[in-house]
Amino acid sequence: QEQQHQPLFAQMQRASDFYEAMLRSHEQRSKAVDYLQRRGLSGKAAKFFHIGYAPPGWDNLLKQLAPEQPKEQQPKEQQKDTIKQLVSCGMLIEKDDDGKQYRTYDRFRDRIMFPIRDARGRTIAFGGRVLGDEKPKYLNSPETPIFQKNRELYGLYEARKIRQKLTRFVIVEGYMDVVALAEFGIHYAVATLGTATSEHHLRRLFKIVPEVIFCFDGDQAGRTAAARAMETVLPLLQDGLQARFLFLPDGEDPDSLVRHEGKDAFEQRLNQSDHLPEFLFAHLKQQVDFDTLDGKARLDQLAAPLINRLPDGMLRQLMRQKLKEETGVDSHALNKLEAEAPASS
Ligand code: ATP
Ligand code: MN
Ligand code: MN
Ligand code: MN
Repeated sequence: QEQQHQPLFAQMQRASDFYEAMLRSHEQRSKAVDYLQRRGLSGKAAKFFHIGYAPPGWDNLLKQLAPEQPKEQQPKEQQKDTIKQLVSCGMLIEKDDDGKQYRTYDRFRDRIMFPIRDARGRTIAFGGRVLGDEKPKYLNSPETPIFQKNRELYGLYEARKIRQKLTRFVIVEGYMDVVALAEFGIHYAVATLGTATSEHHLRRLFKIVPEVIFCFDGDQAGRTAAARAMETVLPLLQDGLQARFLFLPDGEDPDSLVRHEGKDAFEQRLNQSDHLPEFLFAHLKQQVDFDTLDGKARLDQLAAPLINRLPDGMLRQLMRQKLKEETGVDSHALNKLEAEAPASS
């Protein structure tokens, strides 16, 4: 099956090389370069992440990768195959087939291009950002035979390449966050690709490191994402693994914050980030009136199912203990007693 996808990997590599070349040589390259400079990106970082530019126009990639006039006697059949492969890997979009001609156009136009690479460094997808305020701000490759977005993480390959020995990962929302943190010497950030953090994502990270820190944007969407991430990570937390949560000031994201305050301050925030138990209780306490008895009952009701998602182990026991301290009642023990009591009593 790997073998069968070989042509798709090859086309993605050609596309990546093309976009990189366009950032260096296209006649309109200066607006892309200016944009990256305004955002504070160095040439070195751009190179390391193979950032490129998809020029404006409907057929730049098409013409470059599947040229009509074969330069080296490319047979017609081969051109057709190439086009089909580019459609299959999401780089070209099919127009209505009028029966006479098979027509396609470039998916990515006038965008900064971030290649997404798999564990082996092969380009499998792209994220593309507009240079201005147009919508959508980011366009990502669709799911293809070589790209499943709930499995891949932007920056993972690069993080492992830079440093063999990693001790933790920071999960951020965006491409720019990963690149900016790396630029400032924080080389262990990865981003999900416009999707929620999945169990697959977390399993991959925990195979490499024992600690994962969620660091989403300081906005409502970011806080919601953190609560969801907590639910997803709970079942994976075998003793010895840690999930932590860093909340950023309102309106900041990792990219903006690291530029404002630098590496050391940012890493200090990471080092002081909430451990999962702290976040879990703080989060739930926001939802109940903790000064009332029924508020405490509600806390028990909200916390118990979350704590029960944890795998059997010391952490789960400690969390139950903590819940008992918070409410003053050992509901878990009570439930157990009731379950064990003879049915007649
Ligand atoms: P920038 O700093 O370039 O404005 P950002 O990364 O801060 O971008 P956010 O709006 O915080 O952008 O979005 C976070 C991430 O969510 C993006 O990096 C991208 O992966 C994804 N995303 C945002 N908008 C879209 C969209 N319209 N379609 C698909 N994915 C998107
Ligand atoms: Mn945001
Ligand atoms: Mn941003
Ligand atoms: Mn953001």
